[in-house]
This record gives sequence, structure tokens and C-alpha cells, in this order.
Amino acid sequence: MRLQPFGATGRDVPVIGQGTWNVPLRGDRADEAKRALRRGVELGMVHIDTAEMYGDGGAERLVSEAIRGLPREHLFIVSKVLPSNASYQKTLRACDASLSRLGTDYLDCYLLHWRGDVPLRETMQAFEKLVADGKIRSLGVSNFDVADLEEALAALERETIACNQVLYHLTERTIEDHELPFAREHRIATVAYTPFGRDNWADRPGAHTIETVARKHGATPHQVILAFLTRDPSTFAIPKAATVAHVEENAAAGELRLDADDVAAIDGAFPIRRRRGGLPSL
Ligand code: NAP
Repeated sequence: MRLQPFGATGRDVPVIGQGTWNVPLRGDRADEAKRALRRGVELGMVHIDTAEMYGDGGAERLVSEAIRGLPREHLFIVSKVLPSNASYQKTLRACDASLSRLGTDYLDCYLLHWRGDVPLRETMQAFEKLVADGKIRSLGVSNFDVADLEEALAALERETIACNQVLYHLTERTIEDHELPFAREHRIATVAYTPFGRDNWADRPGAHTIETVARKHGATPHQVILAFLTRDPSTFAIPKAATVAHVEENAAAGELRLDADDVAAIDGAFPIRRRRGGLPSL
């Protein structure tokens, strides 16, 4: 598994992590999802992305069961506060609630899930207090455009933004012309959510390029997509997989390096479109 620096945190983090949105929370499928997360960690996908929103705290509880007994310092656990909980006091409380559901005493990174009505300064001050109290090791944001990033950076007194988690997949590459260059310049990691884009690439004419590159490397199309999205030294991807087979496939993408010809071919098959409106999100 390839590791690279996660923003300015001083931590090297695997390029491929594990998402937990819509993870099954009950029955046999939840058991499989827990086995899958644990297998993922075993294969080096120690970056686990969750949020208080996912399953109303249920995803955080499932993560806690999945990681029980694993050495905490090997994991990189990320959770998110909802904008409706992002006032100073509520952020502190939301973090405590996430820690308790996750069964851990710190988060490696804590994100504002998206920007809401609470002034950014309040949330950023709460994040800095959480860092000072040792409850979070770093802080970040999600679904932030360049203007939001600038404002959040200006609101911070002691810390900086470790990452911006954004929608990024083959048919939605506009961050490459906007947020990504800004993030690189400010040592902010960019984390691609929904990296498979609901598989909408598969019925586009460019799909055969993905298949050709996959055949060339003895890889699968999904591995090629993950390798493409993480080809920049500041980008990471967090596919969600609720089965061991998918997790094993995704982890192996962390070893796949595309060459310049592959990247040029994929770039031509799925070009960056001009952005209309704001930063796209789900
Ligand atoms: P995704 O990871 O692009 O896609 C998940 C789907 O892909 C699932 O149906 C999964 O199936 C399938 N899959 C996984 N590995 C596969 C493989 N190797 N081959 C074929 N199919 C595969 O979408 P996502 O869950 O929307 O995004 C990933 C994570 O990003 C989320 O779980 C969440 O943690 C985060 N996220 C953040 C935000 C935000 O606003 N910050 C928004 C959306 C998502 P199985 O589950 O059956 O394995």
C-alpha cells in the first residue's frame, strides 16, 4: 500500500482508505461489512472515514466493533460534524459523542461535513480547542470551495487545515482546475469521496479506455480508477466496500502505478469539464 503525507499533519496515510456511508448496520451484511473493514485494515487501508450523520451514529458504532482490539496508533480515523451541530459548544459535544460511539479517545482528523449557517470561525475555534485537549489530532473540511478554504484558513489561529474531502471521480474532475491547485499550494490533502461516481463511467464511450488500461496492468477497472484519482501526491480516495472481495480489490489498487501513457489516455477519455455553478457535491 502506497503511503503519502496527509497535508501538514506529519502522518503518512495510505492513498486508499475506507468509506462507511450506507454501510449495512444489521444482520449478516453488517457482519460482512465489519469483516471487510478489518480485512481492509490488515491490507493497509487504515484510513477509515465515517461521520456522525452516517446511519445516525450507527456507522461509527459499526467501525468501533470492526476495529476492536486493533492497535489504535496504526489507524487513521476520521469523523465529521454536521453543519447543524457546528456551533462552538455543539461541536465539542458532537466530538465527544463520536468518540464514545467509536470507542476511542481521539480522532486522527475531524471534519466539518459541509458548510452551513454557523460562522466558520466558531467551528474552527472549537476544532482548535479539541486539538489542544488532545481529542483530535488534526482538523479538516469537506465540500469546501476555494473561497471557503481561504476563509477557514483565515479563521484558524494555531492549526491548519489537514484535508478537504470532495466529490471526485472520472466524470467529475472539476476540482483539478479549482480546489486541488489551491490545496496543493497550502499543503492540504484532497480526499476523493464517491470515487466510483455511482459507476456512471461504465456506460460512457471512455469506458473501453479504462478496460484497456486495466488489461494492460492485469488490474480491474475499479483499481485503475482509484490509481488515476490518487496519481497526485496530495490526493487520497476512500471507496466504501461492504464485502471482503471489494476491499481486497480496492487495497490492491494502492500498489498500482499508472504510467504517463495510461494517464494521458484516461485524461482524453474522461476530460475535465468546465465547471458550471459551485463545487459539485452529493
Ligand atoms: P463509492 O465508494 O464510490 O461507491 C460505493 C459502491 O461501490 C458500493 O456499492 C460498493 O459495493 C461498490 N464498490 C466498492 N468497491 C468496489 C469494487 N472494487 N468493484 C465494484 N464495486 C465496488 O461511493 P460512496 O460510498 O458514496 O463514497 C465513498 C465514501 O466517501 C463514503 O462511504 C463516505 O465515507 C465518503 N463520502 C463523503 C461525503 C461527504 O460529503 N464528505 C459524501 C459522500 C461520501 P459494496 O458496498 O457492496 O462493496
